[in-house]
Amino acid sequence: MRIPVIAGNWKMNPPTLDEALELAAGVGEAAAAMPGVVTVVCPPTIWLSEVRRAVAGGRLHIGAQTMHFEERGAYTGETSPLMLAGLAEFVIIGHSERRQYDGETDERVGRKVASAVAHGLRPIAAVGERAEERRDGATAVVVDRQVRSAVASLERLAGTGLVIAYEPVWAIGTGDASSGEDAQEVAAHIRGILREVDADGADEVPIQYGGSVTAENAAEYFGQPDIDGALVGGASLKPEAFAAIMRAASETVHRS
Ligand code: PEP
Repeated sequence: MRIPVIAGNWKMNPPTLDEALELAAGVGEAAAAMPGVVTVVCPPTIWLSEVRRAVAGGRLHIGAQTMHFEERGAYTGETSPLMLAGLAEFVIIGHSERRQYDGETDERVGRKVASAVAHGLRPIAAVGERAEERRDGATAVVVDRQVRSAVASLERLAGTGLVIAYEPVWAIGTGDASSGEDAQEVAAHIRGILREVDADGADEVPIQYGGSVTAENAAEYFGQPDIDGALVGGASLKPEAFAAIMRAASETVHRS
C-alpha cells in the first residue's frame, strides 16, 4: 500500500511572507485532519525557512521547487542540497517550467535526482510530454526518455524516497486536465520502467498526476491503480480546494 503524496507547487506565489504564512497555516490545519495522506507544500525558496518554522510540529511536509546538484560553488542564484537539508524534506526536480525557461535538461535532472537522494531529500521528478509531442503520438517515447534519465544514476529505488510526477505539459495551468484513464496508462508505463530499474523498489515509488487537478476532478485520478497522489499548482494556493484534493486522496481505497 503506497501512501498518497499530495504536493502543492506554489511556484512564484504568493508575493509576500505574510500571505505565504497564512496559506501555510490554512493548509496545515487541513493536513492535521488527513492522516492517510502525505501533504507537501513547496513555497518559493525565500519563504522556506519561515514557512517551515510556522508549521513545525504539524503534519505538513515542506518541499523546495528546485535545487542545484552541487553542494557549493559559483552558481549565482542557485540553492544547494546542503542548504536545503533541515529546511525541506522534498524537492521538485525537472518541472516543465524549469525545463522550458531555465534550460533544465534530462541529464541535469538525473544529476539532481541523484544528488537529492544522496543528501537525504525526497525528489519529486517531474516528467511529461508537450502538446505537439502528444499530437505526434510520442507520449510514451518522451516519458520513457525522461524517466530513464531521471533515475539513471540510482542503483536501486527502494529506500530512496523517490516520487515521480507525471505532468503532461499541455495540462499544466490550462484547465485541460488529462482523463484519469489516459493518466493511468502513462503511470503504468512509468511503473514498468521503474520495475526494470528495481523490480522490488518500483512498487514503493508514488506516481503523482499533475495538470489542472481540482477539487472536482481529483478523485478520478486517485482511483487509478498506479496513481498515488497529485502535484498541484493553481489549486494549491486555495486552502479549501487543496484540502478537498487531500480529502479525495484520503478517501480513495488504493491498491498497490
Ligand atoms: C504544476 O505546476 O505542477 C501544475 C500541475 O499546475 P496546475 O495544477 O495549475 O495545472
